[in-house]
Amino acid sequence: MSFLERWSHLHTSDATIKRYASAKNAECTPIELHREESKGVFSGSHGQYITTLSECTCVDFYLQHQPCKHMYRLAMELGEIPGDYISDIAKIKKKVDDGMTLESAVETVETLSLDSQTVLREILLDLAYRNKPFHRIKKRLNYDELLASGLIVKTEDGKGFVTIGSIRKVQRNLCTYLGRRNEDDEYFDQDTNEWHSCPKGAQQRTHITMSPEGTKVISEVAFPEDKITFLLDKYGVNRCRNMPKEQK
Ligand SMILES: [Zn+2]
Repeated sequence: MSFLERWSHLHTSDATIKRYASAKNAECTPIELHREESKGVFSGSHGQYITTLSECTCVDFYLQHQPCKHMYRLAMELGEIPGDYISDIAKIKKKVDDGMTLESAVETVETLSLDSQTVLREILLDLAYRNKPFHRIKKRLNYDELLASGLIVKTEDGKGFVTIGSIRKVQRNLCTYLGRRNEDDEYFDQDTNEWHSCPKGAQQRTHITMSPEGTKVISEVAFPEDKITFLLDKYGVNRCRNMPKEQK
């Protein structure tokens, strides 16, 4: 079925004319064109879209279920509809990545007091692991410093807080960072009948070294070797680094 046959029920509305017009712009140059499959790939400020003559993965098509500018452009490129389009790959829009990195988020976190870091971890747990749409305000907690840091904002109805959009991508890692930095896991040792605690997320590791003096078994507690631990070291807050090593 051709593009025109498929969409023959469309009326010429202002919105349609606008999409047709912007489809001709250089900004709408496809980054890939697969003629044999009648398929194209486009790039916009929100990401990349896969486009055919019947659908597109962009938000406009998802909302309207009518041809978007990408579909019009594809139809022009394939010669299904007329259009004096301009091609210029230099004008293609790319996704703007305004997201905070884990590094920049941690940099801000390290300026906060321990109390505010604890509140932030509570908020991150709600949002990233408890599937809550927002963290409900708790009277016992003080959010002032966190609000001033710009990491969180109040919800529109004023009932709680959410993290700013740009740290959402790294909020699970940020949550882990705060857990390793400030919290402990308690465990009960049945041999000694005692409770012990160790930094949250730390793992017991055993090294065996062999030398002429004999075999040594050294066990130590350490965090996984990852970018989160790298940052703990960078700010000198890796609590596993200075723990005594046990020798057997
Ligand atoms: Zn589209």
